[in-house]
Order: sequence, then C-alpha cells, then structure tokens
Amino acid sequence: MSKSKTLTTAFGIPVSDDLNSMTAGERGPVLMQDVHLLEKLAHFDRERIPERVVHAKGAGAYGYFEVTADVTKYTRAKFLSQVGKRTEVFARFSTVGGEKGSADAARDPRGFAVKFYTEEGNYDFVGNNTPVFFIRDPLKFPDFIHTQKRNPATNLPDPNMVWDFLSLTPESIHQVTILFSDRGTPATYRHMNGYSSHTYKWYNDRGEYFWVQYHFKTDQGIKNLTRQEATRIAGEDPDHATRDLYESIEDGEYPSWTLEMQILTPEQARDFPWDIFDITKVWPHKEVPPIKIGKLVLNRNPVNYFAEVEQSAFCPGNVVPGIAISPDKMLQARVFSYHDTHIHRLGPNYHLIPVNASKYAPETSYQRDGFMRADQNGGAGPNYWPNSFGGPAPDPSAGEPPFDLSGQAGRHPFSHPNDDFVQAGNLYRNVMTEEDRVHLIGNIADHLSGAKRRIQLRQTALFYKADPDYGLRVADALKLEPQQIKRLAEMSQEERVQATAQ
Ligand code: NDP
Repeated sequence: MSKSKTLTTAFGIPVSDDLNSMTAGERGPVLMQDVHLLEKLAHFDRERIPERVVHAKGAGAYGYFEVTADVTKYTRAKFLSQVGKRTEVFARFSTVGGEKGSADAARDPRGFAVKFYTEEGNYDFVGNNTPVFFIRDPLKFPDFIHTQKRNPATNLPDPNMVWDFLSLTPESIHQVTILFSDRGTPATYRHMNGYSSHTYKWYNDRGEYFWVQYHFKTDQGIKNLTRQEATRIAGEDPDHATRDLYESIEDGEYPSWTLEMQILTPEQARDFPWDIFDITKVWPHKEVPPIKIGKLVLNRNPVNYFAEVEQSAFCPGNVVPGIAISPDKMLQARVFSYHDTHIHRLGPNYHLIPVNASKYAPETSYQRDGFMRADQNGGAGPNYWPNSFGGPAPDPSAGEPPFDLSGQAGRHPFSHPNDDFVQAGNLYRNVMTEEDRVHLIGNIADHLSGAKRRIQLRQTALFYKADPDYGLRVADALKLEPQQIKRLAEMSQEERVQATAQ
C-alpha cells in the first residue's frame, strides 16, 4: 500500500488504530476512554439530515449560462447585460413526491432548479419540467402533497387519495393531462424542458417593467418513457436518470438547454385573454412568441454528492436587481416556504455552505450567530444598522421600482372568466398525436382504476369537460357508462360532487 496521510480524529489528532476498539483485555468490555470510537459512532448516528419534504430525490451538476441575445431593454440584471457573457451555475433536477431512495422513473413532475452565481449575488431559478401546476392557491399545497405521499394508515401510495383530491380540484386538469402524457416520465433529466411555470417580473434601468415566463428547451430533444418502459427501468435501475446525468458529463457529452422567454408589456398583460398569475395556465405561443436569449450548459460533476447536491438549497425569492416576484399566489408562498424548509433541513446558516454561498458578491449582512456559523461571523465589525463604524450600507438603487397595489383584503377565489378546461382540451386535441392520446388514456386508466368507482366517475367527467373524446375514451378504458359521464360533465362542480358523494 502506498504511504498516505495520517488518519486523524475530527480535531486533527493522529489515530493509532482504526480497526480495533480499546478494550479491557482481549475479550473485555470497550472502554469509555476510546475517544476515537465514541466520536466516530456519534458522528455516524447523526449522518442523516431531514430530506426535503418534496423534491427529495435529485441529481446535480455545474456549468455555465451564456447570454445569446440583447435583453437590456427588458432587464437590468447584470448577468444578462451583454451578449456572450457567461455566468457559473449549479443545477439540480429531481422528482417530487418520492423519498430520497425512490425511483427516478416515477410518474411525477421533475424539478429543474438553477443557481446562477452572479456578481449581484446568487439568483435561483426554481422551475419544473411542466409549464403549469395542479393548484393555484398555496393553501392547498400541503393537502395536495399529502395525496402524493403515503396513506396515513397503510403507508402505501393511494390512488384514492390522489384522484379524490384531483377530482375535487378541477383547476388541476391541465397539469394532470401533461403528467399522464408520456412527458410525465421523461427518459432522463437531459431530455426534458424546464419552465418557470410562474410569471416573474423583469425591469430595466429606466424602471419599465415586463411580465415574463422562462422556457429552458432541451437541446438533446424531448425523449420520454412509455408506462411499460418506466415500470421496467424503475425496477432494473431506480437511479437511471442520476446515472445518466453523471455519466454523460463524465463522458464529455455536456447537456445543454436554450433559454426562451415569453415577454409581455403591462399594456399587453391588461388585455391578455388568460390570467397571467394563474399557474394552471400557459401563455399560448402564438399570442406571445418565445424569444431565444441564452444557453445553459452543464459540464462538471460534483465531487461529493452530500456536500454539493444534497446540501444545495434553492429559493425562488433569491432574485437579483432587474428580476422581481409577481403577484402569483403560489410564487408568493414559495418565496417563504423554500427558505423555511432549508433552515429546517440545513440550519439558519445554510447560505454559508459552499454550493449555496454567493461567490462573486460576498455576503455583507448583519445576520449573526446561529448553529454552524462556520465563517468569521462578521468579525469585530458592527452587528447592527444604522451604525457609524463603517458597516455595510443599503444601496437604494438596488431596489425594485415602487408599484401600485389595490383591492380589499380578503380570501378571494380566482375570478378570471378563464375556463379551466380549455387549455387541457387544446393540448389533447391540437398538440398530441394519436399515439400520445393512446398512451395518455392508458396511463390514466392504469392509475385511476385503483380508485373507487365514484371517484373514477367524478374525474372522468372532468376529462370529458376538457374534450368529450378524451372523457369517453377514459370511460371506455375503465368500463364506465358513457351517458353517466356526459350527465356528470353537464353538472356544476357542486352538483357533481354531491352526485358522487358515495
Ligand atoms: P403550440 O402548438 O404553439 O404549443 C404546443 C406546445 O406543447 C409545444 O410547443 C410543446 O411545448 C408542448 N407539447 C408538445 N407535446 C406535448 C405533450 N405531449 N405534453 C405537453 N406538452 C406538449 O400551442 P399553444 O402555445 O397554444 O399551447 C397549446 C397547449 O400546449 C397548451 O394548452 C399547453 O397544454 C401545451 N403547452 C404550451 C406551452 C406554452 O408555453 N404555450 C408549453 C408547453 C405545453 P415545448 O415547445 O415547450 O416543448
């Protein structure tokens, strides 16, 4: 064996023996004074940290983002200020509902998160591989996620929970249609798109603002698994997408995505036929043609999974000057919830972990102390503001321009006259091929057949409302009476819920 460095304890003290515990005699009990053994066991006992409540299973890589079009009339963000400018990034992809050891091939949305290490601090893009979401009010989020997890009694995934909730939440129909298409089982993380799903605000250095949506389009091409392929791969190689990302980068096949933006002026937004803050809707391409503005390339694997991927932490609230949060209710709640989750998971100083730390705009805040404060903790400098000892001062020019808000405080349901079924129907009728539709119906029937019949009826009526052919084909696959589906589809949601109560 070649001579290597001396093994030490966590405190740097040389270790003489790492194979034999210290005992009283050859057979005797272990001695408390075997400090090395005690330290090793105590650390091992604490190796696991809480896994993310959602997006627990993931893979990540480093790379860069390069600007390919001039967007300075839309945003003053410095990392977007010049064609050809490159910014280092770390990206993490994930499934959503499964635990840390679950299969990468599960039918589930995929997380698509990118941390941009900019000179104005870290900008986190935290999207999904679907352009819409199941719900549009954050009060429903914990309930929705409970339905994706395990039944509280059986500890098993439960189609009754899933479809009961979805059929009682008609705005989910668009995302359900995407999730149960083959896009719900992407072939790998490299072969899927990433969408902001939310609307964000961009503003320029003249204070003019725009509403925007991000689309990272895969340069590898969209590739999906059929239900049968996904089931097989989940058994044969549950980590297939993690493996694919790591190995393709090791082999020098660097995955890339083209960033396309949809951009609306405030005037265009006022007359827009869809509620731009409703995350269950897309902006039709012909109304808002996407423009290509950059390229994302991943070209370096992390060296240590736990340090760099498990401990990576993204928050949609981390926006740099030139980018701001929109009134989208889901986005507003995510701004709180992601940061809160990471404090729970990693501690209040998670921003000091190297993968999360701001690289090119060192942190100069007045936050101090707390568990695992592993840097100089502000040293001898002042720990309050205002101070007259030369501490860091706020820069008024960094702020988002003021904007108007009005309205009565209250618990307002979405009131836009949008029909929740039109875009799901458009996808089914106008975008999907016949083969896509056959797979969609098969994927739905396979899963929905596990739910009670009254729930099948209620949900199939929603498919019918998106498109009668869609509903009738699901009904046929589940052997439901077509006339009954038609009658249920013609009822109001309240009447339908009543009619399928038991
Ligand atoms: P377009 O025909 O211009 O766009 C349709 C888009 O649908 C495609 O560009 C592609 O998005 C996406 N797509 C293709 N196959 C599937 C599939 N099996 N599952 C999900 N998405 C698919 O029409 P519109 O813009 O008017 O949109 C029509 C419908 O397409 C929408 O109601 C929505 O369901 C879906 N869609 C729209 C998107 C948008 O931002 N407008 C984005 C994604 C889906 P991509 O190019 O992003 O791969």
